[in-house]
Amino acid sequence: MSQQAYDAGRDADEDVLLRVDDLQTAFFTDKETIRAVDGVTFDIRRGESVGVVGESGSGKSVTARSIMGLVESPGRIVGGSIEYKGEDLVGKSDDEWRQYRGGEIAMVFQDPLSSLNPVYTVGNQIKESLRLHQGLRGRDATRAAVELLEDVGIPDAKRRLKEYPHQFSGGMRQRAVIAVALACDPDLLICDEPTTALDVTIQAQILELLEELKVEHDIGIMFITHDMGVIAEITDRVNVMYAGEMIESAPVEELFENPKHPYTRGLLESIPSRNERGAELSTIEGDVPTPNEPATYCRFAPRCPKAFDDCEQVHPVQVDVDESTDDHQAACLLYPEDVSQNEAVELHRSREDRTGSEVSE
Ligand code: SF4
Repeated sequence: MSQQAYDAGRDADEDVLLRVDDLQTAFFTDKETIRAVDGVTFDIRRGESVGVVGESGSGKSVTARSIMGLVESPGRIVGGSIEYKGEDLVGKSDDEWRQYRGGEIAMVFQDPLSSLNPVYTVGNQIKESLRLHQGLRGRDATRAAVELLEDVGIPDAKRRLKEYPHQFSGGMRQRAVIAVALACDPDLLICDEPTTALDVTIQAQILELLEELKVEHDIGIMFITHDMGVIAEITDRVNVMYAGEMIESAPVEELFENPKHPYTRGLLESIPSRNERGAELSTIEGDVPTPNEPATYCRFAPRCPKAFDDCEQVHPVQVDVDESTDDHQAACLLYPEDVSQNEAVELHRSREDRTGSEVSE
């Protein structure tokens, strides 16, 4: 599929809640400019759960914070757009952004204790959110808060509303955080490693809960994690990030059955349950580089088992992995795989119009 046809298809999709296009977020220090998010593009539709996966340092959390308008100095968005329901959020004032944050887009973080205020009861925190975002007070707010706690699977909800966060177990606390987020009545929920601190059983319960809430509330979910196992459980579509860039994107079954980018393959080969019992687990040697210079080459090349000379000279952009699909893209010079390697390299060279672009403070 041509780039124009792909763009036209994206534009025509009315279910899209969030459209992130060529997003660039950089951090400026005296020594260097770190391109933490460097040209990221993806969509999230209503009723869809979209995973963003990668090792730490890949830029997934900065992508989430950019969408929430929560990038702190010395960082800022330096390019691209974040369209929410057709409105570009980039360039909005803090006050304008705040109207979306909480009301339309809510976020669940990894550590529930840092999201809940220890000196207020869980009920007060849910009711405050209901007051701010849905205008509910008094009995109406209490009734809605009980319903929300029941919705997220907290038994004996009426009594538990009066308890403080420290009286909840880790899993129950994360459920309470999700209830506070839902009290905003969001259409988009951004979950940043929400199950990482939980044990496996509780993790499975929270993932199941999020899946149910997605369907019941018809919301879009952006799910950030480093864990491919979690991605398989919760997402409909997966975007793989590496050193600030999106390097592969596909529906979840397709990505797991037919991974294309060497980095994605490495991530999948390091999942214990996908490997034969007793077989040695493979790992990706080396670390994610800090993206502190323009991408004029493949940032994965130093760790890539398939690297060849052009990988040091040409920056790969996302292309369809072959002619038969418009739903599976990879940013690797080996693709599209149904043309010769030279033709593929030329295609990437011709599509890369931002190579060497400078970002300025
Ligand atoms: S472009 Fe080259 S180095 Fe980068 S992932 Fe593809 S083969 Fe490996």
